[in-house]
Amino acid sequence: MSVNESLTRNCYHPAGEAHIALQPSLSEEQIALLEKICPAGLFQRDAAGKVDVHFQGCLECGCCRLVADDAALTEWRYPPSGCGLTLRFG
Ligand code: SF4
Repeated sequence: MSVNESLTRNCYHPAGEAHIALQPSLSEEQIALLEKICPAGLFQRDAAGKVDVHFQGCLECGCCRLVADDAALTEWRYPPSGCGLTLRFG
């Protein structure tokens, strides 16, 4: 089973607002690190080159929090109760 196939088995219950927030001006090095570390590929640039986190697909693994310091992420918390990820195995 591929990673993408495995990810589609999860159940996502996204909250109305993001639980991860980015600093408005990230360096290219910070952006590259976030793009590389997120297993779900949620850090993506828009057409203007601005990077956003597509929090709705977050796996709540905390990798971005571990590798990025407060200079890159202004907020990281778990989604509110009743929202977030439900893993499905098998
Ligand atoms: S917590 Fe994990 S899945 Fe969620 S944005 Fe950070 S690296 Fe990606």
